[in-house]
Amino acid sequence: MKTIIEPFRIKSVEPIRFTTVEERRALLREAHYNLFALHSDDVLIDLLTDSGTAAMSAAQWGAVMNGDESYAGSPSFFRFEAAVRDLMPFKHVIPTHQGRAAEAILFSILAKPGRKIPSNTHFDTTRGNIEGNGAEAHDLLIPEGRQPGLVHPFKGNMDLDALEAFLRRHGEAVPCVMITVTNNAGGGQPVSLANIHGARDIAHRHGKPFIIDGCRFAENAWFIKTREPGQAGRGIKDIVRDMFDGADGMTMSAKKDAFANIGGWLALNDDELATQARTRLIQTEGFPTYGGLAGRDLEAIAQGLTEIVDEHYLAYRVRTNEYVSERLGALGIPVVKPAGGHAVFVDARAWLSHIPPLSYPGQAVAVGLYEVAGIRACEIGTVMFGRSPDGSERPAAMDLVRLAMPRRVYTQSHADYIVEAFGELAAKKDAIGGFRIAWQPPMMRHFTARFAPLA
Ligand SMILES: *Cc1c(COP(=O)(O)O)cnc(C)c1O
Repeated sequence: MKTIIEPFRIKSVEPIRFTTVEERRALLREAHYNLFALHSDDVLIDLLTDSGTAAMSAAQWGAVMNGDESYAGSPSFFRFEAAVRDLMPFKHVIPTHQGRAAEAILFSILAKPGRKIPSNTHFDTTRGNIEGNGAEAHDLLIPEGRQPGLVHPFKGNMDLDALEAFLRRHGEAVPCVMITVTNNAGGGQPVSLANIHGARDIAHRHGKPFIIDGCRFAENAWFIKTREPGQAGRGIKDIVRDMFDGADGMTMSAKKDAFANIGGWLALNDDELATQARTRLIQTEGFPTYGGLAGRDLEAIAQGLTEIVDEHYLAYRVRTNEYVSERLGALGIPVVKPAGGHAVFVDARAWLSHIPPLSYPGQAVAVGLYEVAGIRACEIGTVMFGRSPDGSERPAAMDLVRLAMPRRVYTQSHADYIVEAFGELAAKKDAIGGFRIAWQPPMMRHFTARFAPLA
């Protein structure tokens, strides 16, 4: 059979609430045009993020009831640890309440003023934690990754020549080399197995630990299987293990490729580093066998990790995004090609070329989409990345709007509705105006900034 179907049937449903265009206009004004400020029951289809929004399986809900809430030594921790190590055999697995807590702990140890941390592209919380500790976050993506319309199978790859040159030049200042799979901030684009191993080997030749931000490890493995020469015959688990082979550590958000609503971990091989991390964990998260999570959360993650590597799920997951991406392309809307693993990214800068980057074309698209159809998307562009640590403003590399697909939540007809909404927006695109920022906090402004429409 060629039709790719949702590889599940629905046992429990959650109604979604319809609103009128007039209601949405008022709600946007009240939210100061920041979609993070909306109440989610005013949103019909929520594509703000794929983080923590997955539908858990019946097996996961069953596992929740087996959660053991002992403070120390809970069997739920050991099931969680075994499930992680079945895929990524790190010596130390340290649970955290989400991915950024793992980053905060890691960078409280590794990031200091004067230090520089290279990656293919740091995600916003990663960058925030590095810069918050006074260090610099450097993105060394291949040039193809910065051209939204260019088709390349692994647009998340690290520029290995640039990494080599970076380490030659700044070696002393570099505490670790990172790579993000898939590259969320760069369009959900995958990193090839060859590139992961190449970055690892360069890091090791310079004596640096190699840390993987593995939030979407399963989606990345699917792309390796379907796009990288010689990988088609391998199982997903086998590829995942190979991705992490020889890595010195990982940070993880279980809200992504673990089908959990909360959770994360920091994994390390180095005993001394792990001791420092656990000390910090106890100060900020909790005892090392629960780390800011309930036993039931650890159970949900452990079960989720066995489900995420299912090939039928991954085929449906990736195909959903390809489908939306193809249909938007057919409407003449520029999208990042190929579609990302967890999201479709619309190139707002190219589409609304009458709005300059510093008037936030991505924000304009996201606001327009909510107004037209009640769909919530997320700007990933100059609002998110346009502010330097010194407070000056510059256009981000790209102005994208991310349509992040929650895992196992929406169906084919939801995808068709999303496409129709873009058709409506396309019909009046030249009348869409930009925004200015009326108020912003000192860091990570996209979550709380207030906007005002221009003219
Ligand atoms: C979500 C995410 C994080 C942070 O994880 P949280 O669980 O949201 O704190 C870090 N890196 C990447 C690539 C992510 O997508």
